[in-house]
Parts: sequence; C-alpha cells; structure tokens
Amino acid sequence: MAQLKQYINGELVGASTGEWFDVENPYKLETIGQAPKGNAEDANAAIEAAAAAYKTSWPKLPAETRAGYLKQFAQIIRDNQAELTDLLIAEQAKIAGLAGVEIGFTASYFDYYAGWANIYEGEVINSSSARDDGTSNENIWLSYKPIGVVGGICPWNFPFFVMARKVAPAILTGCPIVIKPSSVTPLTTLRFAELIAQNIPELPKGVLNFVTGGGATVGSAITKHPAIQMVSLTGSVEAGIEIIKDSAEKVMKTSLELGGKAPALVFADADIDLAVDRIAASRLIFSGQVCNCAERAYVHESVYDEFLTKLKANFDATAYGDPYAADSVYSSQVSADQLDKIKAITERAVAAGAEVVTGGAVADKGTGYFYQPTILTGVAQDSEIVQKEIFGPVLPVLKWSDYDAVIAAANDCEYGLTSSVFSTNVSTVMQAIKDLNFGETYVNREHFEGLQGFHAGWRKSGIGGADGKHGLYEYLQSQVTYLRY
Ligand code: NAD
Repeated sequence: MAQLKQYINGELVGASTGEWFDVENPYKLETIGQAPKGNAEDANAAIEAAAAAYKTSWPKLPAETRAGYLKQFAQIIRDNQAELTDLLIAEQAKIAGLAGVEIGFTASYFDYYAGWANIYEGEVINSSSARDDGTSNENIWLSYKPIGVVGGICPWNFPFFVMARKVAPAILTGCPIVIKPSSVTPLTTLRFAELIAQNIPELPKGVLNFVTGGGATVGSAITKHPAIQMVSLTGSVEAGIEIIKDSAEKVMKTSLELGGKAPALVFADADIDLAVDRIAASRLIFSGQVCNCAERAYVHESVYDEFLTKLKANFDATAYGDPYAADSVYSSQVSADQLDKIKAITERAVAAGAEVVTGGAVADKGTGYFYQPTILTGVAQDSEIVQKEIFGPVLPVLKWSDYDAVIAAANDCEYGLTSSVFSTNVSTVMQAIKDLNFGETYVNREHFEGLQGFHAGWRKSGIGGADGKHGLYEYLQSQVTYLRY
C-alpha cells in the first residue's frame, strides 16, 4: 500500500507525529494508500520555509523564470498522465473520462498561467500636479507586488485541478505557497509532490509545500500563522466562515470559493432537447458532486410536461457504476458520509411533500456508495431541497409562469455561484443575464467554467475568485507611486 509523503522545504517527509491516515477507494471499498497525519507543527515548518523563500530569492526572480517551473509542472503531469489518472479514479471514483480531463486540464492550467509571465502589468495614471508655470511635474503609476506567503486549502471533489488553481497564480506572481489537500483525496496531489521532488530538484526550497491533515488542525494553523498573507480556500461555506473567523484578528485577505445552488431557467422558446441534455449532464456529472452543477431547474409551464418527460427518460437511461466502464456517466459518491447526506436531504424533501418522478433511493451495485439519478417535483421555493446544496444526483424541478417571479426565485438563495438560461430568443437571454445575480451565467450549455474566465461567487458562494486575469491579480498587492520632478 502506497504511503505518500508531505513536501516541506524541498523534502519529502512524514508527519512530525509519525502517524498516517488511510485513504479509501470508495468504489472498491478498500484502503488504497496512506497520507501523513500532519498537525500545526508540520504546517508551521512549511510556512517558515515558504517565508524564508519569500524573503530571499523567489519574488526577486523574473516572472518568466518562475513560469519555467510551471511549464515543468505541466510536463511532469503529461509524462505521468496515465498513472495520475488512475490514482485520481482510485481515490474518489471519478469516471475515467472525467479523471483524464481533470489531469490534462491541470497541465493546461499550469501552461496557461506560465503564459501570463510577460503579460500582467500595472498602470500609468495622469497626475493633476503642476509647477507654478502650469506644466505637469508628476508621474503616477500603479504597480503590483506578490501578496506574500499564501495558504491554499483544497476540497476533495476536484483535488488535483483545484490545487493547480492555487499553485499556478501563486508561483507565477512570486508567492510561495503551502497547500493543504483534503484528507479524503490527498493521494494524487502527494504523488505530484513526489514527482516534483524527483524531477525538479532545482525548484527553490520552500516555494511549494504540501502538508496533509485535518481542517481544524493544519487548515486552521495555516490561516492563523502570522506569515500567511492570504488564504485561498475552495470548500464549504462552513469552512469559509471558520477561515474568516480565524483570519479576523490578522485582518487578512481571504479568497473563498464555496458552495453553489445553481438555478437552470428553461424558457417557453427553449430548445427542449438541448435543455434536457445539458441540465442532465450538469446534474449527473461526477454524481452531482460539483460546485457549479445545476442544483434546481425552473421550467416554463408551457414546456414543463415535455421537459419532465424527456428529463425522466434521460435520467432513466443513465448508466452508472464502474468508473472504468465506457458507458458510466458517474460512479460512486466519494464516501458513505456523502451518500448519507444525499439520502437524508431527499427523504426530508419527500416527507415535506415532494413527489419522486424517478429514483429517490440508494442504488445497490454490490460495491460503492451509489444514489439513483433522481427527479423531484412538488417542492416549495423555501424548502431545504431548493435552498441547500445537495451535492448528489438529485434534481428538484419547479414550474413557472411569470418572468419576474422566476427571476426572484432564482436569486432567492444564499448561494450565488452559477446559473444557466435556456432560450432561443436573444432578448430573453440578455434580459435574464441582466437580472440574474450570480458569478457565472451559462447560456444554452452545461455548467462548466473555462480557465480564462473568472470563477467567483456572489453571496455565501465566496469572496474573490479564480482563473484568468482576475484570478491572477488575487495574488498581487497594488502600490501607487507619486514621482514629482
Ligand atoms: P470542506 O469545507 O469540508 O473542506 C474543504 C477543505 O477545507 C478541506 O481541505 C478541509 O480540511 C478544510 N477545512 C475544513 N475546516 C477548516 C477550517 N476550520 N480551517 C481551515 N480549513 C478547513 O469541503 P469539501 O467537502 O472538501 O468540498 C465540498 C464543498 O466545496 C462543496 O460545498 C462545494 O460546493 C465546494 N466547492 C466549491 C468550489 C468552487 O469553486 N466554488 C469548487 C469545488 C468545491
């Protein structure tokens, strides 16, 4: 059984406690590896190494030199794509196709941010200062410096990609980083650390660190450490709130990408086959364990029956099971806990009056933690199933007739990550985009963001965001210079 180590100050190390924790393959229900059970001592060692790298060399190098390391990370991933894909499938039961996409996309992500080395820039600003004779005598410019040592705290659902989402902009801008993977899925990330240690020994020590352990121990120690200048968390609203509390005394910047409850709006003039296909794909991908998934559908009354009939046919035809089976749309939930949560929230919805159109139960596949593709109707706007993140293959569908009312219902949610609109009328689409208050709106397509966009939630879905130019600037601090001559 693989024991994969932490990576601290350029060395592969076990935990200071000498303890390890098990990682389960949720499809096969067997232990596949162990990771070090790190604690605050391990977090502090990594942060001190990162702080030393920040003080000495790292931010002083040209961005292009730092970008060279990102290109090497991308190459290592591509050279080991098959092994990393298998490990990702094993630790979280992601179907093989999607796992391959995540590994490949992560390599592309490092290359993408490497490409920013000679692109990000400051601004020159006009000054109103003048000499006695009226001629201008001042230059003002805004430049950017790396924010400092960053803590990156990752979730279990896209553990490899989200790691890169934090490492790439940090490394490029000159911020040493300490990554804490989720304890549910740490192995692919730790294997990447091992590959870096073996293949890129010239990477300056302390610039990139991986520490494993619990959120309340390692995660909290990272947040509270005085040398950490920003924590970037991807995870639940609850963890985000804890990080805000832990960072309050320090008045520290946080970049929080939290949960979602995306509404999908289907208008009377929508291409119904497209809407059904894309909403089902959004809901069922990775068994619903995706932050930006369609979590609730609002369908116009004139197309409601047709939509529901076709959606039921789609869900009923969905193959799920072995992550390596070519026709599997999804595989096991990541853990017994996650399956229990999906089961419980669905049962409470049914007890409150929801009707089960299809599914509505745990599926027995002889192994793994499976839930049936499920459609619920007869749900109230203020019910738990319409307001809270399900994170499983369960879709509540609501009927609407009035435009203002459906927009109000879509916006009436503590989450504000993503949303989608299905219509063939450009005026309808444009008006809905204007009226929907979400970080992202997808039109006539599935919910999935691009690396050049900006993934940033409204309301409790987060603070700040990731990807593209704006994600890069999260890691930079401005300085305005007034130079009078
Ligand atoms: P989680 O909040 O349970 O854990 C996320 C990470 O935070 C883990 O590494 C955990 O150990 C750590 N953590 C927990 N408590 C902490 C604390 N007090 N201090 C510091 N760190 C702490 O989330 P999860 O179950 O791993 O992931 C699922 C959640 O993540 C869902 O809500 C999902 O919507 C969200 N998510 C959001 C995005 C996005 O981009 N907005 C992407 C993926 C997942």
